[in-house]
Amino acid sequence: MSYIGRFAPSPTGPLHFGSLIAALGSYLDARQRGGKWLVRVEDLDPPREVEGASDLILTTLERYGFEWDGEVWYQSRRHAIYIEVLDELARHGLSYRCGCSRKQASEQQQRLGLPIGVYPGTCRTKQASAHSHHAIRLNTSGQRRVDFVDGVQGPIVQDIEREVGDFVLRRADGLFAYQLAVVVDDAAQGITGIVRGSDLLDSTARQIVLQQLLGYPTPTYHHLPIAVNRQGQKMSKQTFAPALPVDNPLPALWQALRFLGQQPPPELLEGELASFWRWAIANWCSSAIPRTLAKPYPGENSPDSAQ
Ligand code: GLU
Repeated sequence: MSYIGRFAPSPTGPLHFGSLIAALGSYLDARQRGGKWLVRVEDLDPPREVEGASDLILTTLERYGFEWDGEVWYQSRRHAIYIEVLDELARHGLSYRCGCSRKQASEQQQRLGLPIGVYPGTCRTKQASAHSHHAIRLNTSGQRRVDFVDGVQGPIVQDIEREVGDFVLRRADGLFAYQLAVVVDDAAQGITGIVRGSDLLDSTARQIVLQQLLGYPTPTYHHLPIAVNRQGQKMSKQTFAPALPVDNPLPALWQALRFLGQQPPPELLEGELASFWRWAIANWCSSAIPRTLAKPYPGENSPDSAQ
């Protein structure tokens, strides 16, 4: 079976060094295996989106020399499919409507001494009124241990029912949850290998449970270290991560490759973009990726922090 990888940015702002890591890791893994690499814009949450961000992300990827296969997918165009899948889960009694407010859910969780964020399943048997705003949750009863081996982070085990609880598939305001959309689209696009930031490691068991319930195959996973600042915060819009310079790709690409434990020769910085990519694809070694969840990004801490 041929490899299909993907990069799935949310259009909440321009690409920054942190997102470049995920784009680069997934791209090199796919290209080195002679596989395909797809781009999917995860525009599920309009209030968090920034106008023009999708186009800017795609332009930046292009200028950086990333070549994707086929058309870019947009999750905002796939609502009908998500509804079909939600209906299927409901028909099989695997999901339910939940009318609890966030406050009610957290009070119940505290009363029962459950871990933070774990919903106790109060509405599993009590139908939420058809008129009230309701979320749709997955019924995780009986979904116990999920274990998988992450290609970078090693063996991972999570008890879904106890540690995560009945997670939301569609929010009360009607927005589809990331967990649902990502599983449906990874399967629809035939993704066989997922390479992304370690901030999503904790979501993976939930995604595997959904894949199993829907009869989808489970891809392989590689969770890359995320780039953090001196305070240990992930590079993001909230931590003021600077946008990647659209017209000067080589320095950031070269640093991103070093961040991922590769040893690009300094001469690549002086050469053509095409030579950078030739070297990066031919020499990509996923076993050299540092087995850590987070690393300071270049320029933070010691001058050697890109090592
Ligand atoms: N859209 C998600 C993000 O930008 C990534 C989803 C994924 O790679 O599974 O954080």
